[in-house]
Amino acid sequence: MTTFRELGLAEALLKALIVEGYEVPTPVQELAIPPLLEGKDVLGVAQTGTGKTAAFALPVLQAMLGKKPQAKRKVRALVLSPTRELAAQIGDRFAAYSKELDLRHLVIFGGVNQNPQVRALRRGLDILVATPGRLLDLVGQGYIDLTEVEFFVLDEADRMLDMGFIHDIRKVLRILPKARQNLLFSATMPSSISDLAGSFLRNAVRVEVTPETVTVERIEQRVMFVKKPDKRRLLGDLIKAHDVRCGIVFTRTKHGANRLVKQLSQVGIEAAAIHGNKSQNARNRAMNGFRSGELPILVATDIASRGIDVDGVTHVFNFDLPNEPESYVHRIGRTARAGKSGLAIAFCDESEGAYLRAIERLTGVVLTVDDEHEYHHPPAVPPPAKPRQARRAASPKQGTRTDQNSSSRRRRRRRRGPHRGNAH
Ligand code: AMP
Repeated sequence: MTTFRELGLAEALLKALIVEGYEVPTPVQELAIPPLLEGKDVLGVAQTGTGKTAAFALPVLQAMLGKKPQAKRKVRALVLSPTRELAAQIGDRFAAYSKELDLRHLVIFGGVNQNPQVRALRRGLDILVATPGRLLDLVGQGYIDLTEVEFFVLDEADRMLDMGFIHDIRKVLRILPKARQNLLFSATMPSSISDLAGSFLRNAVRVEVTPETVTVERIEQRVMFVKKPDKRRLLGDLIKAHDVRCGIVFTRTKHGANRLVKQLSQVGIEAAAIHGNKSQNARNRAMNGFRSGELPILVATDIASRGIDVDGVTHVFNFDLPNEPESYVHRIGRTARAGKSGLAIAFCDESEGAYLRAIERLTGVVLTVDDEHEYHHPPAVPPPAKPRQARRAASPKQGTRTDQNSSSRRRRRRRRGPHRGNAH
Protein backbone atom coordinates (compact mmCIF):
# COMPACT_ATOMS: atom_id res chain seq x y z
CA MET A 1 0.00 0.00 0.00
CA THR A 2 1.34 3.41 -0.94
CA THR A 3 1.93 5.92 1.82
CA PHE A 4 1.67 9.70 1.67
CA ARG A 5 5.43 9.84 2.12
CA GLU A 6 5.94 7.64 -0.93
CA LEU A 7 3.79 10.02 -2.95
CA GLY A 8 6.49 12.61 -2.35
CA LEU A 9 4.75 14.95 0.06
CA ALA A 10 6.79 17.30 2.21
CA GLU A 11 7.34 16.78 5.92
CA ALA A 12 5.16 19.73 6.96
CA LEU A 13 2.21 18.29 5.06
CA LEU A 14 2.80 14.76 6.35
CA LYS A 15 2.58 16.14 9.88
CA ALA A 16 -0.72 17.83 9.11
CA LEU A 17 -2.09 14.58 7.70
CA ILE A 18 -1.17 12.74 10.89
CA VAL A 19 -3.10 15.36 12.86
CA GLU A 20 -6.05 14.85 10.52
CA GLY A 21 -5.86 11.11 11.09
CA TYR A 22 -5.32 10.25 7.42
CA GLU A 23 -3.38 7.01 7.38
CA VAL A 24 -3.18 6.16 3.70
CA PRO A 25 -4.00 8.07 0.54
CA THR A 26 -7.38 7.46 -1.05
CA PRO A 27 -7.29 6.20 -4.67
CA VAL A 28 -7.79 9.66 -6.16
CA GLN A 29 -4.97 11.00 -4.00
CA GLU A 30 -2.67 8.16 -4.96
CA LEU A 31 -3.33 8.78 -8.65
CA ALA A 32 -3.47 12.56 -8.76
CA ILE A 33 -0.80 13.72 -6.31
CA PRO A 34 2.32 12.45 -8.16
CA PRO A 35 1.51 14.07 -11.55
CA LEU A 36 0.41 17.25 -9.82
CA LEU A 37 3.70 17.40 -7.92
CA GLU A 38 5.47 17.07 -11.26
CA GLY A 39 3.65 20.16 -12.43
CA LYS A 40 1.26 18.43 -14.80
CA ASP A 41 -2.35 19.36 -15.45
CA VAL A 42 -4.86 16.84 -14.10
CA LEU A 43 -8.37 15.98 -15.15
CA GLY A 44 -9.98 14.17 -12.22
CA VAL A 45 -13.22 12.24 -12.47
CA ALA A 46 -14.21 11.85 -8.85
CA GLN A 47 -17.12 12.62 -6.60
CA THR A 48 -17.13 14.50 -3.35
CA GLY A 49 -16.33 11.98 -0.65
CA THR A 50 -13.42 10.40 -2.49
CA GLY A 51 -10.81 12.66 -0.92
CA LYS A 52 -10.40 14.80 -4.02
CA THR A 53 -9.98 18.03 -2.06
CA ALA A 54 -6.76 16.79 -0.48
CA ALA A 55 -5.75 15.40 -3.88
CA PHE A 56 -5.52 18.94 -5.22
CA ALA A 57 -4.90 20.94 -2.03
CA LEU A 58 -1.79 19.04 -0.93
CA PRO A 59 0.18 19.44 -4.19
CA VAL A 60 -0.85 23.10 -4.45
CA LEU A 61 0.38 23.75 -0.90
CA GLN A 62 3.57 21.83 -1.51
CA ALA A 63 4.39 23.80 -4.64
CA MET A 64 3.92 27.03 -2.69
CA LEU A 65 6.01 25.89 0.26
CA GLY A 66 9.29 26.38 -1.50
CA LYS A 67 8.60 29.94 -2.60
CA LYS A 68 8.73 32.85 -0.22
CA PRO A 69 5.61 34.98 -0.32
CA GLN A 70 6.18 38.43 -1.78
CA ALA A 71 6.08 41.44 0.53
CA LYS A 72 2.48 41.93 -0.52
CA ARG A 73 0.95 38.50 -0.93
CA LYS A 74 -0.86 37.90 -4.18
CA VAL A 75 -3.23 35.13 -5.14
CA ARG A 76 -1.13 32.25 -6.44
CA ALA A 77 -3.77 29.54 -6.35
CA LEU A 78 -7.37 30.04 -7.35
CA VAL A 79 -9.98 27.38 -6.61
CA LEU A 80 -13.43 27.81 -8.15
CA SER A 81 -16.31 26.05 -6.47
CA PRO A 82 -19.99 26.01 -7.48
CA THR A 83 -21.54 26.47 -4.04
CA ARG A 84 -20.81 28.35 -0.86
CA GLU A 85 -20.90 25.15 1.18
CA LEU A 86 -18.34 23.46 -0.97
CA ALA A 87 -16.17 26.58 -1.03
CA ALA A 88 -16.29 26.72 2.78
CA GLN A 89 -15.37 23.06 3.04
CA ILE A 90 -12.45 23.46 0.67
CA GLY A 91 -11.34 26.42 2.78
CA ASP A 92 -11.53 24.26 5.91
CA ARG A 93 -9.36 21.62 4.26
CA PHE A 94 -6.74 24.18 3.24
CA ALA A 95 -6.78 25.46 6.82
CA ALA A 96 -6.28 21.96 8.19
CA TYR A 97 -3.44 21.03 5.84
CA SER A 98 -1.62 24.34 6.14
CA LYS A 99 -1.80 24.88 9.91
CA GLU A 100 1.97 24.89 10.23
CA LEU A 101 2.68 26.74 6.99
CA ASP A 102 3.17 30.39 6.31
CA LEU A 103 0.41 30.48 3.73
CA ARG A 104 -2.85 32.36 3.83
CA HIS A 105 -6.10 31.38 2.22
CA LEU A 106 -9.45 33.06 1.92
CA VAL A 107 -12.93 31.85 0.96
CA ILE A 108 -15.28 34.24 -0.80
CA PHE A 109 -18.85 33.69 -1.95
CA GLY A 110 -21.96 35.67 -2.68
CA GLY A 111 -25.05 36.19 -0.57
CA VAL A 112 -23.12 37.85 2.25
CA ASN A 113 -21.74 41.34 2.79
CA GLN A 114 -18.60 41.78 0.72
CA ASN A 115 -16.82 44.14 3.14
CA PRO A 116 -15.18 41.52 5.39
CA GLN A 117 -14.02 39.73 2.22
CA VAL A 118 -12.61 42.96 0.82
CA ARG A 119 -10.76 43.67 4.07
CA ALA A 120 -9.23 40.18 4.02
CA LEU A 121 -8.27 40.62 0.36
CA ARG A 122 -6.50 43.88 1.23
CA ARG A 123 -4.38 42.08 3.81
CA GLY A 124 -3.08 39.81 1.04
CA LEU A 125 -3.36 36.05 0.59
CA ASP A 126 -1.88 33.10 -1.27
CA ILE A 127 -4.86 30.84 -1.93
CA LEU A 128 -8.30 32.04 -2.92
CA VAL A 129 -11.34 29.74 -2.88
CA ALA A 130 -14.30 31.39 -4.57
CA THR A 131 -17.68 30.95 -6.17
CA PRO A 132 -17.64 32.43 -9.69
CA GLY A 133 -20.15 35.26 -9.27
CA ARG A 134 -18.58 36.91 -6.26
CA LEU A 135 -15.10 36.40 -7.67
CA LEU A 136 -15.92 38.27 -10.88
CA ASP A 137 -17.78 40.90 -8.93
CA LEU A 138 -14.75 41.66 -6.76
CA VAL A 139 -12.37 41.41 -9.69
CA GLY A 140 -14.58 43.96 -11.48
CA GLN A 141 -14.38 46.28 -8.50
CA GLY A 142 -10.61 46.03 -8.55
CA TYR A 143 -10.22 44.18 -5.24
CA ILE A 144 -8.72 41.01 -6.66
CA ASP A 145 -5.59 40.74 -8.75
CA LEU A 146 -5.29 37.41 -10.55
CA THR A 147 -2.15 38.23 -12.54
CA GLU A 148 0.09 36.03 -10.36
CA VAL A 149 -2.08 32.90 -10.39
CA GLU A 150 0.04 29.77 -10.87
CA PHE A 151 -2.61 27.16 -10.04
CA PHE A 152 -6.16 27.09 -11.21
CA VAL A 153 -8.53 24.48 -9.79
CA LEU A 154 -12.02 24.06 -11.18
CA ASP A 155 -13.89 21.87 -8.73
CA GLU A 156 -17.20 20.09 -9.40
CA ALA A 157 -17.11 21.25 -13.00
CA ASP A 158 -20.28 19.39 -13.94
CA ARG A 159 -22.23 21.13 -11.22
CA MET A 160 -20.74 24.45 -12.36
CA LEU A 161 -22.16 23.89 -15.80
CA ASP A 162 -25.50 22.70 -14.44
CA MET A 163 -25.73 25.93 -12.52
CA GLY A 164 -25.07 28.00 -15.61
CA PHE A 165 -21.59 29.18 -14.67
CA ILE A 166 -20.00 28.45 -18.04
CA HIS A 167 -19.78 32.13 -19.07
CA ASP A 168 -18.31 33.10 -15.73
CA ILE A 169 -15.74 30.32 -16.01
CA ARG A 170 -14.74 31.49 -19.46
CA LYS A 171 -14.40 35.05 -18.20
CA VAL A 172 -12.14 33.89 -15.38
CA LEU A 173 -10.03 31.84 -17.80
CA ARG A 174 -9.54 34.92 -19.96
CA ILE A 175 -8.08 36.97 -17.13
CA LEU A 176 -5.74 34.30 -15.76
CA PRO A 177 -2.07 34.31 -16.78
CA LYS A 178 -1.28 31.85 -19.58
CA ALA A 179 1.49 29.98 -17.76
CA ARG A 180 -0.18 28.08 -14.98
CA GLN A 181 -1.01 24.58 -13.80
CA ASN A 182 -4.64 23.51 -14.22
CA LEU A 183 -6.76 21.01 -12.35
CA LEU A 184 -10.30 20.11 -13.22
CA PHE A 185 -12.44 17.84 -11.07
CA SER A 186 -15.87 16.61 -11.98
CA ALA A 187 -18.10 13.81 -10.72
CA THR A 188 -19.31 13.04 -14.23
CA MET A 189 -17.74 13.60 -17.61
CA PRO A 190 -20.42 14.49 -20.17
CA SER A 191 -19.21 15.95 -23.46
CA SER A 192 -19.77 19.53 -22.23
CA ILE A 193 -17.16 18.93 -19.53
CA SER A 194 -14.70 17.22 -21.87
CA ASP A 195 -15.04 20.22 -24.20
CA LEU A 196 -14.43 22.65 -21.39
CA ALA A 197 -11.47 20.59 -20.14
CA GLY A 198 -10.05 20.46 -23.65
CA SER A 199 -10.23 24.24 -23.88
CA PHE A 200 -7.76 24.94 -21.08
CA LEU A 201 -6.02 21.79 -19.81
CA ARG A 202 -2.65 21.00 -21.37
CA ASN A 203 -1.58 17.35 -21.79
CA ALA A 204 -3.61 16.57 -18.72
CA VAL A 205 -3.24 13.30 -16.86
CA ARG A 206 -6.69 11.78 -16.53
CA VAL A 207 -7.44 10.30 -13.14
CA GLU A 208 -10.67 8.42 -12.68
CA VAL A 209 -11.78 6.79 -9.47
CA THR A 210 -15.41 5.91 -9.93
CA PRO A 211 -16.72 5.09 -13.35
CA GLU A 212 -18.82 8.04 -14.34
CA THR A 213 -22.53 7.88 -13.59
CA VAL A 214 -22.31 4.58 -11.71
CA THR A 215 -23.86 4.73 -8.30
CA VAL A 216 -21.95 3.73 -5.26
CA GLU A 217 -21.99 0.01 -4.48
CA ARG A 218 -22.51 0.28 -0.77
CA ILE A 219 -25.78 2.13 -1.17
CA GLU A 220 -28.95 0.10 -1.06
CA GLN A 221 -31.33 1.76 -3.46
CA ARG A 222 -35.08 1.40 -3.18
CA VAL A 223 -38.05 3.03 -4.80
CA MET A 224 -41.51 3.43 -3.33
CA PHE A 225 -44.41 4.23 -5.61
CA VAL A 226 -46.54 6.74 -3.82
CA LYS A 227 -49.15 9.29 -4.74
CA LYS A 228 -47.99 12.86 -4.46
CA PRO A 229 -50.29 13.87 -1.58
CA ASP A 230 -49.20 10.81 0.40
CA LYS A 231 -45.50 11.56 0.20
CA ARG A 232 -45.14 13.63 3.32
CA ARG A 233 -47.05 11.16 5.49
CA LEU A 234 -44.92 8.35 4.10
CA LEU A 235 -41.75 10.29 4.83
CA GLY A 236 -42.75 10.98 8.41
CA ASP A 237 -43.69 7.34 8.95
CA LEU A 238 -40.44 6.07 7.46
CA ILE A 239 -38.27 8.44 9.48
CA LYS A 240 -39.97 7.18 12.61
CA ALA A 241 -40.05 3.52 11.59
CA HIS A 242 -36.35 3.54 10.66
CA ASP A 243 -35.50 5.70 13.66
CA VAL A 244 -33.47 7.95 11.36
CA ARG A 245 -30.97 10.04 13.33
CA CYS A 246 -28.96 11.33 10.40
CA GLY A 247 -30.86 11.57 7.14
CA ILE A 248 -31.13 13.93 4.18
CA VAL A 249 -34.34 14.56 2.28
CA PHE A 250 -34.12 16.03 -1.22
CA THR A 251 -36.81 18.19 -2.72
CA ARG A 252 -36.87 19.78 -6.15
CA THR A 253 -37.67 23.31 -4.97
CA LYS A 254 -36.64 25.63 -2.17
CA HIS A 255 -40.24 26.30 -1.38
CA GLY A 256 -40.91 22.56 -1.21
CA ALA A 257 -38.00 22.19 1.21
CA ASN A 258 -39.34 24.91 3.52
CA ARG A 259 -42.84 23.48 3.45
CA LEU A 260 -41.59 20.00 4.22
CA VAL A 261 -39.64 21.19 7.26
CA LYS A 262 -42.87 22.67 8.66
CA GLN A 263 -44.84 19.53 7.89
CA LEU A 264 -42.25 17.31 9.54
CA SER A 265 -42.24 19.51 12.60
CA GLN A 266 -46.02 19.06 12.85
CA VAL A 267 -45.49 15.33 13.29
CA GLY A 268 -42.70 15.85 15.81
CA ILE A 269 -39.70 15.45 13.52
CA GLU A 270 -37.04 18.10 13.80
CA ALA A 271 -35.61 19.19 10.48
CA ALA A 272 -33.98 22.22 8.85
CA ALA A 273 -33.87 23.29 5.23
CA ILE A 274 -30.70 24.14 3.38
CA HIS A 275 -30.87 25.85 0.01
CA GLY A 276 -29.76 28.90 -1.91
CA ASN A 277 -32.29 31.30 -0.38
CA LYS A 278 -31.18 30.64 3.16
CA SER A 279 -28.75 33.08 4.70
CA GLN A 280 -25.24 31.85 5.29
CA ASN A 281 -25.91 31.92 9.03
CA ALA A 282 -29.00 29.76 8.70
CA ARG A 283 -27.09 27.30 6.53
CA ASN A 284 -24.19 27.15 8.95
CA ARG A 285 -26.56 26.63 11.86
CA ALA A 286 -28.31 23.80 10.03
CA MET A 287 -25.06 22.16 8.93
CA ASN A 288 -23.49 22.42 12.38
CA GLY A 289 -26.59 20.99 14.04
CA PHE A 290 -26.70 18.16 11.52
CA ARG A 291 -23.02 17.40 11.78
CA SER A 292 -23.08 17.31 15.57
CA GLY A 293 -26.05 14.94 15.59
CA GLU A 294 -28.44 17.40 17.25
CA LEU A 295 -30.50 17.84 14.10
CA PRO A 296 -31.60 14.48 12.69
CA ILE A 297 -32.98 15.59 9.33
CA LEU A 298 -31.73 18.00 6.70
CA VAL A 299 -34.04 18.93 3.84
CA ALA A 300 -32.01 20.07 0.85
CA THR A 301 -32.26 21.07 -2.77
CA ASP A 302 -29.74 19.87 -5.33
CA ILE A 303 -27.80 23.08 -5.44
CA ALA A 304 -27.12 22.87 -1.73
CA SER A 305 -26.38 19.17 -1.72
CA ARG A 306 -22.88 19.15 -3.16
CA GLY A 307 -21.25 20.59 -0.14
CA ILE A 308 -22.87 18.27 2.35
CA ASP A 309 -20.01 16.16 3.51
CA VAL A 310 -21.12 14.41 6.66
CA ASP A 311 -19.83 10.92 7.33
CA GLY A 312 -22.69 9.39 9.31
CA VAL A 313 -25.62 9.93 6.92
CA THR A 314 -27.60 6.67 7.04
CA HIS A 315 -30.58 7.58 4.85
CA VAL A 316 -31.17 9.66 1.74
CA PHE A 317 -34.79 10.23 0.78
CA ASN A 318 -35.54 11.44 -2.70
CA PHE A 319 -38.82 13.09 -1.79
CA ASP A 320 -39.04 14.39 -5.34
CA LEU A 321 -37.17 12.59 -8.07
CA PRO A 322 -34.66 14.90 -9.75
CA ASN A 323 -35.34 15.79 -13.36
CA GLU A 324 -31.63 15.41 -14.11
CA PRO A 325 -30.63 11.80 -13.46
CA GLU A 326 -27.05 12.88 -12.60
CA SER A 327 -28.44 14.69 -9.58
CA TYR A 328 -29.75 11.39 -8.26
CA VAL A 329 -26.20 10.04 -8.21
CA HIS A 330 -24.96 13.06 -6.32
CA ARG A 331 -27.85 12.98 -3.91
CA ILE A 332 -27.47 9.36 -2.90
CA GLY A 333 -23.71 9.87 -2.69
CA ARG A 334 -24.36 11.84 0.53
CA THR A 335 -24.74 8.49 2.29
CA ALA A 336 -22.39 5.49 2.44
CA ARG A 337 -19.41 7.74 3.02
CA ALA A 338 -16.20 6.91 4.81
CA GLY A 339 -16.64 3.18 4.20
CA LYS A 340 -20.11 2.98 5.73
CA SER A 341 -23.21 1.65 4.02
CA GLY A 342 -26.40 3.58 3.40
CA LEU A 343 -29.97 3.39 2.28
CA ALA A 344 -31.44 5.58 -0.46
CA ILE A 345 -35.20 5.62 -0.83
CA ALA A 346 -36.78 7.28 -3.84
CA PHE A 347 -40.42 8.34 -3.78
CA CYS A 348 -41.90 8.07 -7.25
CA ASP A 349 -45.33 9.58 -7.84
CA GLU A 350 -47.68 9.39 -10.78
CA SER A 351 -45.83 12.12 -12.66
CA GLU A 352 -42.27 10.90 -12.09
CA GLY A 353 -42.08 7.62 -14.01
CA ALA A 354 -39.92 9.15 -16.72
CA TYR A 355 -37.45 10.51 -14.15
CA LEU A 356 -37.15 7.07 -12.59
CA ARG A 357 -36.49 5.48 -15.96
CA ALA A 358 -33.84 8.07 -16.75
CA ILE A 359 -32.13 7.35 -13.42
CA GLU A 360 -32.14 3.60 -14.02
CA ARG A 361 -30.83 4.07 -17.53
CA LEU A 362 -28.00 6.26 -16.33
CA THR A 363 -26.95 4.10 -13.39
CA GLY A 364 -27.67 0.74 -14.99
CA VAL A 365 -29.31 -0.30 -11.73
CA VAL A 366 -32.95 -1.20 -11.29
CA LEU A 367 -34.13 0.21 -8.01
CA THR A 368 -35.63 -2.36 -5.67
CA VAL A 369 -39.32 -1.79 -5.16
CA ASP A 370 -40.12 -1.36 -1.52
CA ASP A 371 -43.76 -2.34 -1.18
CA GLU A 372 -43.72 -2.96 2.53
CA HIS A 373 -45.67 0.16 3.03
CA GLU A 374 -49.38 0.68 2.71
CA TYR A 375 -48.79 3.58 0.37
CA HIS A 376 -47.41 1.37 -2.32
CA HIS A 377 -49.07 1.42 -5.67
CA PRO A 378 -47.88 -0.19 -8.90
CA PRO A 379 -45.62 1.60 -11.35
CA ALA A 380 -47.55 4.10 -13.37
CA VAL A 381 -45.79 3.73 -16.64
CA PRO A 382 -44.46 0.76 -18.58
CA PRO A 383 -40.68 0.63 -18.80
CA PRO A 384 -39.55 1.46 -22.31
CA ALA A 385 -37.12 -0.52 -24.42
CA LYS A 386 -33.97 1.34 -23.42
CA PRO A 387 -33.90 0.61 -19.70
CA ARG A 388 -34.33 -3.06 -20.50
CA GLN A 389 -30.93 -2.99 -22.14
CA ALA A 390 -29.55 -1.20 -19.13
CA ARG A 391 -31.11 -3.86 -16.93
CA ARG A 392 -29.50 -6.67 -18.86
CA ALA A 393 -26.18 -4.92 -18.92
CA ALA A 394 -26.39 -4.30 -15.23
CA SER A 395 -27.53 -7.72 -14.16
CA PRO A 396 -24.16 -9.30 -13.25
CA LYS A 397 -23.47 -6.40 -10.94
CA GLN A 398 -26.86 -6.70 -9.38
CA GLY A 399 -26.25 -10.33 -8.65
CA THR A 400 -23.75 -9.18 -6.06
CA ARG A 401 -26.26 -7.00 -4.32
CA THR A 402 -27.36 -9.12 -1.42
CA ASP A 403 -30.29 -6.87 -0.62
CA GLN A 404 -31.88 -7.68 -3.91
CA ASN A 405 -31.47 -11.41 -3.46
CA SER A 406 -32.90 -11.48 -0.01
CA SER A 407 -36.25 -13.15 0.09
CA SER A 408 -36.66 -12.46 3.78
CA ARG A 409 -37.46 -8.88 2.99
CA ARG A 410 -40.82 -8.55 1.49
CA ARG A 411 -39.56 -6.58 -1.41
CA ARG A 412 -39.47 -7.63 -4.98
CA ARG A 413 -37.76 -6.61 -8.15
CA ARG A 414 -40.09 -4.65 -10.32
CA ARG A 415 -42.14 -6.99 -12.47
CA ARG A 416 -43.14 -5.71 -15.79
CA GLY A 417 -45.95 -7.89 -17.10
CA PRO A 418 -48.89 -7.45 -14.75
CA HIS A 419 -48.32 -3.77 -14.14
CA ARG A 420 -47.70 -2.74 -17.67
CA GLY A 421 -49.82 0.22 -18.56
CA ASN A 422 -51.33 0.51 -15.10
CA ALA A 423 -52.52 3.95 -14.31
CA HIS A 424 -53.55 5.48 -11.04
P1 AMP B 1 -13.54 15.12 -0.20
O1 AMP B 1 -13.88 14.10 -1.25
O2 AMP B 1 -12.33 15.88 -0.55
O3 AMP B 1 -14.72 15.98 0.11
O4 AMP B 1 -13.18 14.33 1.15
C1 AMP B 1 -14.10 13.55 1.86
C2 AMP B 1 -13.70 13.30 3.29
O5 AMP B 1 -12.62 12.39 3.37
C3 AMP B 1 -13.26 14.55 4.05
O6 AMP B 1 -13.90 14.51 5.31
C4 AMP B 1 -11.77 14.38 4.21
O7 AMP B 1 -11.32 15.00 5.39
C5 AMP B 1 -11.60 12.88 4.27
N1 AMP B 1 -10.33 12.38 3.73
C6 AMP B 1 -9.67 12.82 2.65
N2 AMP B 1 -8.56 12.10 2.43
C7 AMP B 1 -8.50 11.17 3.40
C8 AMP B 1 -7.58 10.12 3.72
N3 AMP B 1 -6.51 9.88 2.98
N4 AMP B 1 -7.84 9.37 4.80
C9 AMP B 1 -8.94 9.61 5.56
N5 AMP B 1 -9.84 10.57 5.32
C10 AMP B 1 -9.64 11.35 4.24
